[in-house]
Amino acid sequence: MIKHPALGSFLVAAAVTACFLVYALGATRNVDEKPFIVFFTLVAFPFGWFLVWIFLGAIAWWQGLTRDPVEAALSSLGISPEMIAARSLVMCPEARELVVAATGDDGSDHLLTPEAAAAWEAMSAAALADGVSLRIVSAFRDVERQTEIVRAKLARGLPLQDILCVSAPPGYSEHHSGEALDLTTGGVAPLAPEFENTAAFRWLSHNAGKFGFVLSYPANNPQGYAYEPWHWRFSAQAEA
Ligand SMILES: [Zn+2]
Repeated sequence: MIKHPALGSFLVAAAVTACFLVYALGATRNVDEKPFIVFFTLVAFPFGWFLVWIFLGAIAWWQGLTRDPVEAALSSLGISPEMIAARSLVMCPEARELVVAATGDDGSDHLLTPEAAAAWEAMSAAALADGVSLRIVSAFRDVERQTEIVRAKLARGLPLQDILCVSAPPGYSEHHSGEALDLTTGGVAPLAPEFENTAAFRWLSHNAGKFGFVLSYPANNPQGYAYEPWHWRFSAQAEA
């Protein structure tokens, strides 16, 4: 795939121009070929450029069709592959099958994979039996939504590096997997560090593992995210 259509365009245009100049310089020495020069200048040359234009348009169209949506989202936000590599982030493909795990106060559905939803149901019921109420703030999120979140923060003037300490780059959010949950409980603001000091967090620390949920981003995590006591991810392996 041509990574730089502008460079391809320049090379093709330079080659066409060189061919024309070589022909024209040779032909001017021969009076009989004057009509051919006129023909080249008025018809063949513009037609050749038209073909180049069509060809480059086709390449751009094909690249647009085949471009990876995650790659497109990252480049539209100015997130380079080097920034991803420096953080050793792992790509999280979007879940294929989702079910409604809970409905939020605003009526929006929180989606999870069927396995994660079943584990969440069992875990939240067990917590409630112990007098602990757990609520979902956020569950599945697609690449497009993650892109909007980062774009909105950029629009508010936040530096990209700061944004990426609290928001995953599109394609790399565990929420794409349909297995990650942001949880809250009564008495604290959602997604606030104070969640760590709640009975709900203490209960999760002792019991979430039994249901297959693991705290993804403890303090000083290797991915470089800020500590997220509210973010838990289901893993079928952790359950077993
Ligand atoms: Zn989260």
